[in-house]
Amino acid sequence: MVNTILVTGGAGFLGSHLCERLLNEGKNVICVDNFSTGSKDNIMHLHDNPKFEIIRHDINFPLYLEIDQIYNLACPASPVHYQLDPVQTIKTNVHGSINLLGLAKRTKARILQASTSEVYGDPEVHPQPETYCGKVNPIGTRSCYDEGKRCAESLFFDYHRQYGMDIKVARIFNTYGPRMHPDDGRVVSNFIMQALQNKEITIYGDGNQSRSFCYVDDLVDGLIRLMNAENVVGPVNLGNDGEFSMRELAEKVISLTDSNSKLSFHPLPMDDPRQRRPDLRRATEKLGWTPTVALEEGLMRTIEYFAAQLEHYNDAVVI
Ligand code: NAD
Ligand code: UDP
Ligand code: UDP
Repeated sequence: MVNTILVTGGAGFLGSHLCERLLNEGKNVICVDNFSTGSKDNIMHLHDNPKFEIIRHDINFPLYLEIDQIYNLACPASPVHYQLDPVQTIKTNVHGSINLLGLAKRTKARILQASTSEVYGDPEVHPQPETYCGKVNPIGTRSCYDEGKRCAESLFFDYHRQYGMDIKVARIFNTYGPRMHPDDGRVVSNFIMQALQNKEITIYGDGNQSRSFCYVDDLVDGLIRLMNAENVVGPVNLGNDGEFSMRELAEKVISLTDSNSKLSFHPLPMDDPRQRRPDLRRATEKLGWTPTVALEEGLMRTIEYFAAQLEHYNDAVVI
């Protein structure tokens, strides 16, 4: 029986939703976080739950706990955040993963790695199936993240082959929703914050590059299904296979917020992938999972969250 679940990065965007869902299922949850990009605000509402525990800890250091399952989400996820301290980012992916794999090995816990669609780099195969090995620049400014995540996948599979460990690897595609950090520089948070304030919408490049956006509740559901599926190691793509250009996204956000914002064009960051869409056949076949929240619906829920955050901030400034 699964008694205690460790969620690293539990104070972050995805981690806080995961902790909340697991607690709602009656599980004991330990959240480990160094609060580098996460925040106590994301988990304060869980604080009084007797089944919830918070530990401030950096996973680059060893961790001794008795647990049954581990979700390893600790890692900055947005390009702005992971490029602030690239060495720390790669260490978190490599040293951090080794420590958690060591913990899982000692406790015989099942361990799931939050990997990413970034392992496919700037893909030449479209949509991306799990069998595609990717096209990644090993020395670029994104490599601390994408090569770090690739190395973490190697570690998970080597611990699996060498020690027979019970591992899971989820390749997560762009996910959005309430509790995204308003300043993380990701496209959904940027566009919504800009549109709500009638500021220019910053399009990088010509805006024809594409992404596929998954609403957070769907993603968390996929993670839990993968963790609890017997005989599915992965990697498994988790995301939404609706594909949109950044121009289309900007237009949707402007219309849903009824904003006066205009588009402004800026240089494309280095190694920015031109297209991305998950092939979801493996997730559907092995986990019986498909995303259910359409982009407009998910954007509306996210816009409500950011609007409330802005109101709160403005009130605080007035006081
Ligand atoms: P986030 O930045 O909101 O959350 C990451 C959390 O990890 C934060 O709370 C941060 O403080 C914590 N953390 C970072 N380094 C740590 C360390 N060394 N020790 C302990 N805690 C540490 O990001 P997120 O969007 O919630 O992403 C969570 C995970 O999912 C990440 O591993 C990310 O790579 C992966 N992922 C996310 C997306 C997405 O679109 N959100 C896509 C692909 C993969
Ligand atoms: N580790 C940990 N908690 C544990 C067990 C191990 O943090 O409960 C860390 C420890 O730092 C160790 C690493 O995980 O170095 C890898 O463990 P493993 O058993 O693979 O290797 P070793 O102990 O031989 O270094
Ligand atoms: N992007 C953009 N304007 C912004 C922020 C991002 O046009 O204000 C673009 C970015 O160049 C990329 C896409 O939106 O092509 C998704 O960026 P994000 O950082 O959200 O995710 P990732 O590149 O990691 O998929």
